[in-house]
This record gives sequence, C-alpha cells and structure tokens, in this order.
Amino acid sequence: MIVMKFGGTSVEDSDAIRKVIEIVRTELHRNPIVFVSACAGVTNQLLKVADLSAAGKKDEANDYITAIRTRHEKLVDELIHSELPKNYLKGKISVYAHELKNLSQAISVIGEITGRSRDTIASYGERLSSMIIAQAMEESSLKSMLVDAREFMITNDSFTKAVPIFPVVEERAKKLIEPLVLNGYVVVTQGFIGATQSGITTTIGRGGSDYSASIIGSLLDAAEIQIWTDVDGVLTADPSIIPGARRIKRMSFNEASELAYFGARVLHPKTILPAIEKNIPVYVRNSRNPSYQGTLIRRSDGNEECIAKSIAYKERTTLLNIESSRMFLAPDFLEAIFSVFSKYHTIAHAVATSEVSVTVAIEDTSRLDDIKREISEFAEITSSGGKAIVCVVGENIRNNPGVVGRIFSSLRDIRINMISQGASEINIGFVVDDDDIEEAVRRLHNELFSNTSSQELSSEIFD
Ligand code: ASP
Repeated sequence: MIVMKFGGTSVEDSDAIRKVIEIVRTELHRNPIVFVSACAGVTNQLLKVADLSAAGKKDEANDYITAIRTRHEKLVDELIHSELPKNYLKGKISVYAHELKNLSQAISVIGEITGRSRDTIASYGERLSSMIIAQAMEESSLKSMLVDAREFMITNDSFTKAVPIFPVVEERAKKLIEPLVLNGYVVVTQGFIGATQSGITTTIGRGGSDYSASIIGSLLDAAEIQIWTDVDGVLTADPSIIPGARRIKRMSFNEASELAYFGARVLHPKTILPAIEKNIPVYVRNSRNPSYQGTLIRRSDGNEECIAKSIAYKERTTLLNIESSRMFLAPDFLEAIFSVFSKYHTIAHAVATSEVSVTVAIEDTSRLDDIKREISEFAEITSSGGKAIVCVVGENIRNNPGVVGRIFSSLRDIRINMISQGASEINIGFVVDDDDIEEAVRRLHNELFSNTSSQELSSEIFD
C-alpha cells in the first residue's frame, strides 16, 4: 500500500486532474490511497468568504461563492460525461453553494467569525475537489471510492489547527480504508480536514494535506508516501532567487524537517514526522513532470554525500534583544523568558544566548506587545523588525567544521544580526536584514553549490 497526495496546483483544472489520474494508474499495483487538496486558490477564496461575511460584506462573499461554484461545475462538465454522475455532482455543488450562502448569511448577522465556522467553510474546498476527482477516476475506469476524511481523521477541537487523536484515527482508518484498499479500490479522500469525536468539522492547519497523508501512511504502514506538487522536488535554494537551483535527489528526514521549518515551501513542516517514526520513505514529485524522479527523503544512512544540501530562508521575522537586569541567574532568566513566549503561543525560530542576554527571532508578532510588557518587568527588551533567518542545512555540516568559515567569509560585508547552530548541528542559521536575503542566498549558493567552488559536491545527488 502507498499513499499519494496531490496538492492544489496538481488538481487546479481538468488537465491537471487528468494527469493525476494517469499517475495514479501507473501505481495501481501498489494499492494507492489518494489524498487531495482543494483546487489551487479555493481555500483562500473560502477564507475570504468567511472574513467578508464577518465584515458584513455579504454581496462580495456571494461573488466568491459563485466563482467557486462555477469553477467546479466547469470541472464536472470537462471531466464527467455520464449523465447520472454528472447530474449528481452538479446537484451536490449546488447544495454546497447554498450551504455556504447560509453560513455566510448567519455569520454576517452575528458579525464575527469563530474558528469553528472558519473550518466548516474551509472544508468545502477539499470536499468539492475530492468528489469530482473520485468520479473522474471512475469514468477513466479506475475502481475508486470516495471516503470522507471526517470519518477517520478524528481531532481535538482546536479549530483551525486541530490535533489528530492518533489511536482513534488509526482504529477508524483500519476499519474504513484498509478493507477498501484490499478489495482493489483506489481510496480518494481529503487532506487538511477532519472532525471532532462528536462530528464537528475541523482543519489541521493551512497546508496540512501533506500531514494528513503522512499520518495515514504511517498508521497504515504504507511502503511509501508520495507528495505530488508543482516543482521537481526539493531544490538547493529558492528558484526565484537562484534560477539555476538544483534538484536534490536524496536527503535525510532531519534535513527535510529543518528545511521545512526554515521556509522551504515544498513541504509542510509537520509532514515527515509520522514518516520518520515508521521510517517510511517520502518522495516529493512534480505532477506536471511525472517522469522526473523527484526527491527521496529517507532515514540517513550516515553516508550523506555532500556537506550542505540546501539553503532556506524565512522572511519578515523580528529580532528581540533581551538583557537581564542582573536580578536573575542564567537558568531562571531563560525560564522566565521562555515561559512568556509559551504563554503567548509565540514560536522562537532561532535563539542565541549569553549569560545576561538573549536574542530571539520570531515570525508571529501578533502578541509582541504582551510579550514586551511582561518581559520588561524583569529585563530590558528591544525589538527590530524587517529581518530574515537564512539557514544552511546538511547532515555533514557537523563533520566539517571548515564549512562555517566558508559560509561566513562568503557573506563578508553583509550585516549579520545573530548566529545560531542547532544542537543537531545539521543547520547553521543566521539573521540578516530582509533587504539582504537575495544577496546572501546568492553568495551562499555560489560558495556551496557551484561545481567550481565546491569540490565535495557529488554530482550524483543533484540534478
Ligand atoms: N487546501 C489547504 C490549504 O490551502 C490544505 C492544503 O492544500 O494542504 O491550506
């Protein structure tokens, strides 16, 4: 059994969906379970519906609902030719559009939106795409079955970022999905959405379809998890900055998770955690270019071929400089600081400490005022925005101390606001001004990945 997940751009229109069906066909002998996202852009539009409704802008919300309806009706017209399923799907789309209008109306009367309503509204994107794709498979003579993820992806009620309850998910998935797969059905289901034990719709966080796929892959002991997207795999750097960025053929789980956390856009940060637990290989592949092998992410065998694998960055971060007023000894000082971050659910993406001062890089500044107020009760705190964390990732960094020197000498005159190296020593992160990102990434890529300057690059692992 394998799990295949197709992201929004892989199912954005009827041509893309036809490609998906052909890709799934080539894997039929491996019993695929197929997770799909909403068609590209639809989740954003649905969340817009939620916001506009809360702001009382019902007519604008209705325009979005109509656009979503028309787009999916067009998909049905282009993909489904048998009369009965075509009418059934069009009827369903119409019911969903009415439900959305009713929700929008109710929210606009109340004038505010809860996480629970946001999740219900957002869920329609995946529910629409999946039902059309499952039927389109049937039309292309793939024996398929649509399974509603809310029947098995059981979560807590932290709406908009609900946490799956693994033992329940496992029990339900084994009961619902496994028998269908064993009977030769291609199970088609939704990423991203779930439900509480009492059946209220939830979502597991933006971009969460990868995570849905990997949870089920892990719980059902899949032989492989395939994440199909619109790029050729994980690259050595963001191609919008480095047009010649190269595909990485193989990387370790640790490298992939560091990259995802530090901004590489191909993978959702949580994706590979369940895969790591069961040591299930994850392939990142391009549905527009299926003959390409993509990137294989797997447990490191300790023989990573080169020092650095990739450069990632996170823009728009804010640096907080916190200096002890010397009333605290170091351990209490750190504890006091991080309990404030924890209280306001703000993630520290990079940290550098000395005995009396701590520098923290954060992305989410929604609670910055509260954080500053509380910390200023026991320390001096200043903040500066407009920063970016740049991060070089590679298992072999730890075995090659010289690489740190190369990294920083290549950056020479670029102002570095902070440096941090994680305990795993597979990444080196530093903070630069937002305006310097492109230059920093270009110089690093040149230093670490251009064949002329980097002897230890084995061409075998890059394309
Ligand atoms: N459709 C959802 C989103 O856009 C989930 C996903 O595609 O992973 O966030």
